[in-house]
Amino acid sequence: MTEARATAWPEGKQSAVALAFDLDGPTGDAMLTGSIWDRPEYFAQGAYGPWRALDRILALLDRRQVRATFFTPAWVVETWPDKCRTIVDRGHEVGHHGYKHEKYWDLSADQQGDVIDTSQRIFRNTLGAAAVGFRTPSGDWRPETPALLAERGFEYSSSMRGDDRPYFHPGGRLVEIPARSDMDDYASLAYTTNPDWPSGGDRIASYELTLDNWVREFDGYHREGLCLTTIFHPKVIGKPGRAVLLDRWIDHMQEDGAVWFATCQEVSTWWRTNNRKEEQ
Ligand SMILES: [Zn+2]
Repeated sequence: MTEARATAWPEGKQSAVALAFDLDGPTGDAMLTGSIWDRPEYFAQGAYGPWRALDRILALLDRRQVRATFFTPAWVVETWPDKCRTIVDRGHEVGHHGYKHEKYWDLSADQQGDVIDTSQRIFRNTLGAAAVGFRTPSGDWRPETPALLAERGFEYSSSMRGDDRPYFHPGGRLVEIPARSDMDDYASLAYTTNPDWPSGGDRIASYELTLDNWVREFDGYHREGLCLTTIFHPKVIGKPGRAVLLDRWIDHMQEDGAVWFATCQEVSTWWRTNNRKEEQ
């Protein structure tokens, strides 16, 4: 195992943690097809995130004095404007996550541009500022997507899985802050019956083992001086018992005072300033 640090972090901290939540709301196929309005239970299930769980997570982050990033479909911003403004008012960052959680690989370049531009208009009008960060809702994108983002002024993406450090996309204009599926709360805590895939995804893991996994994953990142980002979802991690789990995990990470907690935008800015030469 290498003992070399991946980078120097601000204030002499040993590693970086950029907590990130995907505030999906009732997005996905039901919203894209409009069937959400015929099936009120879809709305109710997804609405738990912005309507109920968000406040609990924001209170927890306040108490821990940790700022985070919320990747939010613009449709959620339109539907819960006050809730989303609260995120910004409390010092957190809101980034793009599609308009209705589109699958980017299904969209032409023009369609992707339309989704991004429409979302950016809604962000400006509702939240008072354009976003600089993006996480693809589909977990993937098309080859032209990073250029479409960079030419619209986006500074970073947190969409890919292939590293545990930030890096530059080809061309050097867009920073990637990779978020690994290991740190997706769906893997342990989401319950799905249709489809019951991947195998085991139709049950919920022990909270104790889930916390143990996350603690050990953080310990590895911290030891090597890396940047850990999460794919957490308020509607999954923001339920009462799971919020305790999140609190205990943050407690562990704050134990030695050697972690730089930052928004993804701050990590991106830091990386751009301190690593450009090495990466080009
Ligand atoms: Zn999502």
